[in-house]
Amino acid sequence: MRLKHIKGSEEEVASSKVVIKNPETYIGSWNKLFNNKNKIELEIGMGKGSFLIEKARRNKNINYIGLEKYPSVLLTAIKTIEEENLPNIRIICTDATNVDKIFKKEISKLYLNFSDPWPKKRHEKRRLTSSVFLNKYKPIFKGFKVIEQKTDNDDLYAYSVSSFKENGYIVLKKNTNYFDDIRTEYENKFISKGKNINYVKVIKL
Ligand code: SAH
Repeated sequence: MRLKHIKGSEEEVASSKVVIKNPETYIGSWNKLFNNKNKIELEIGMGKGSFLIEKARRNKNINYIGLEKYPSVLLTAIKTIEEENLPNIRIICTDATNVDKIFKKEISKLYLNFSDPWPKKRHEKRRLTSSVFLNKYKPIFKGFKVIEQKTDNDDLYAYSVSSFKENGYIVLKKNTNYFDDIRTEYENKFISKGKNINYVKVIKL
């Protein structure tokens, strides 16, 4: 994605209560942070956050965590979460490679929405559905490992489906013309251009 550096974004992210600093220190105790025993769902690469925020508004009995690498894209999400005072959503600003140092047996579902496709073969390991990442996700799940992915990118979709299968996941649902009533920023953009949206939901015991 194109990255605009927004002046002061690091400071704003650092001072917001909805952004959890030193997230590794919460490993194994995220439910304590939310002060309930509800399920926790994670989105990696949340971007501006409209998907996760809408999920949090509609499902008060589920906790949501959005992980995003770049502080500049997070400003919109932070503002909305603070204004609406949503208790069941928090943000972590870090790279996805750290995910196995942050969660241990506490995530019920992982969302990957419009992840960077990294089309070059030599960048395969950077794709969030490569075996490298699927191995990293293993210890974060509590019970069944459930992943839902949406993407405009047909090649990333095909790659992900085969990578999931190679890594022992079972496909529960897939659809190359998916319509979701909770959309991400990228999803809206691609739909307005007439692009089909690919969706896959997988599970591993
Ligand atoms: N999910 C949003 C944004 C999609 S763009 C939407 O659908 O609208 C992909 C997002 O993933 C970007 O915000 C990018 O900064 C983030 N991202 C890419 N690689 C990442 C990584 N390794 N760790 C964390 N976030 C990452």
